[in-house]
Amino acid sequence: MSLLLPFEPPVERIQYDEFNKNGAEVYVKREDMIHPFISGNKWRKLKYVLEDASAKRINTLVSFGGAYSNHLVALACAGARFGYQTHAFVRGEQVANHMLGLCEMYGMNLQFVSREAYRNKPQLFDQYFGSRQEVMFIDEGGRGELAMRGCSEMLDHISPGFTHVICAVGTGTTLSGLAQAASLKGIKPEGICVLKAESLTDEIGAMIPGVKEWNVHHRFHFGGYAKTTPELLSFMKDFASRTGILTDQVYTAKMFYAVRQLIDEKYYPPGSRLLLIHTGGLLGALSQWERPSVD
Ligand SMILES: *Cc1c(COP(=O)(O)O)cnc(C)c1O
Repeated sequence: MSLLLPFEPPVERIQYDEFNKNGAEVYVKREDMIHPFISGNKWRKLKYVLEDASAKRINTLVSFGGAYSNHLVALACAGARFGYQTHAFVRGEQVANHMLGLCEMYGMNLQFVSREAYRNKPQLFDQYFGSRQEVMFIDEGGRGELAMRGCSEMLDHISPGFTHVICAVGTGTTLSGLAQAASLKGIKPEGICVLKAESLTDEIGAMIPGVKEWNVHHRFHFGGYAKTTPELLSFMKDFASRTGILTDQVYTAKMFYAVRQLIDEKYYPPGSRLLLIHTGGLLGALSQWERPSVD
């Protein structure tokens, strides 16, 4: 049992005038195309976690997330596909939306817990599942060593010549995995942090002690995690309508926006060839037409 890639996601040159200036060339790796619901980096992050679960004869996967968690949707779908029971502790009061609806459709058990209780995940797990050997704890967002290893494989088949690889940063697991692979290929990894958390830079540094050159930009969170501005939403629309590439306002729109601005500021030296990772998460894009979430 293993999460095998259905195909190698393509790398495409982006035709967007604002990217084609100051000597930069911009490409995108379409990890978003891997699967509609086990999308982008969530597929990569789950691959070795599921292998581990299989080796340990686990039958139930337990994880954590907010009401708009791409990770929970991915876990629910992968669990259904590979024969695991799935259970999620969902942060906050009970709500219904299209993402939790999908989780339920795939058979995931949803348990809403207060923000206080949610803070201590190991305790929650112990309280409900502590005595059961065949149940696996999967941290919020699927973060961890095995997830990093899966993400490092995003660069396995890319052609040579890229100078930078860039992705959105939530927990930093994806960037850390990419950074390990990138440093071996002489490519500089960069992250665009989508939340207000400068301390993440230190956490990521601790995950990639062997990598010397890397960077996280902290100017593009638009007010914090899942916060948006009219400017970000209008960029999303402009970008989608002129390139055919849909982004989501929580992660990838902030990354593409940041790259546009960094190119405009001549941050990248002329001749730079940038590889942007589209990490997926497009279900999140649909939530902007729902009631605004209080998160
Ligand atoms: C979860 C997610 C991220 C963040 O990945 P981390 O490894 O937690 O940094 C980025 N983009 C999308 C679309 C996501 O769903």
